[in-house]
Amino acid sequence: MNTKLTGLHHITAIAGDAKTNVAFYTDLLGLRMVKKTVNFDDPTAYHLYFADERGTPGTVLTFFYWGDIPRGRPGIGQVSATAFTVPQGALSFWKERLAEKGIATSNLPTRFGESGIGFQDPDGMPLELMESESSLNLVPWVRDDIPEGVAIRGFHSATGIIGDLTDTEILLKDLLGMGELEREGNRVRYRIAEGGAGRIVDFVVDPSAPRALQGAGTVHHIAYATATDEDQETLRESLHNAFLGVSPVMDRNYFHSIYFREPQGILFEVATEGPGFAVDEPVETLGEALKLPAMYESRRADIEKALVPLN
Ligand code: ZN
Repeated sequence: MNTKLTGLHHITAIAGDAKTNVAFYTDLLGLRMVKKTVNFDDPTAYHLYFADERGTPGTVLTFFYWGDIPRGRPGIGQVSATAFTVPQGALSFWKERLAEKGIATSNLPTRFGESGIGFQDPDGMPLELMESESSLNLVPWVRDDIPEGVAIRGFHSATGIIGDLTDTEILLKDLLGMGELEREGNRVRYRIAEGGAGRIVDFVVDPSAPRALQGAGTVHHIAYATATDEDQETLRESLHNAFLGVSPVMDRNYFHSIYFREPQGILFEVATEGPGFAVDEPVETLGEALKLPAMYESRRADIEKALVPLN
């Protein structure tokens, strides 16, 4: 059975203050805010989506805003770094741009032959920019101060920390259909699908790492993409039959989702590619108006009053 994952879909992380977070990801990193909505489980808080021009699966970083919560701690059972692709030669532009804003960057050791830099967002979330040939066919959201030749091109990869690979590998290979691509030290790279943006995921095996603590600046879950509802249901059945606790299908308006934990505790989601972010507003104006799921429309006035302005 081939589960037909098509790559990463989105990565969702936890932030404190929404306004600071929006300024960082849009004004500084140049991502487009493609959806302004609320947490479907708590409509008093934003759920914001940042992506390329169209919200293409594999480019979408989303945040829950949990206010004044303590920072989390990276460790086993968590995605510890989120990497974006930039074109070859773009790193010097980004180092300078981040330094101008007082953000320290570090040169990463060469990883599978590619160069990268690491830095943190305002909540301390670890981010990486990797110079890579992958996913350069995406249309970035171009701003005057970020030329297209250096703009971020969606996800490169995500890195999870685990203490032991054995059971995780069975899930990745046998149930999710991923193939091991390369190993470098204790880092194991898997290919989710061929070509395009966000097609790889890395796991660092480190039994000495502490357990992760969830908090501001940590990844909440990582979502893989699947093309159709039928493919998702086939996968849901195979996970269920393998005795992995898997959620029912949830309607997230822009995609349909199932959730389960990999054996070391990282929360995985599989989301459908459709219907996509243009289902309730045109591509030209994505992210400009507050969009609410139907169940909250009758409470719009109260919800809008409770949300802080973003600029
Ligand atoms: Zn999600």
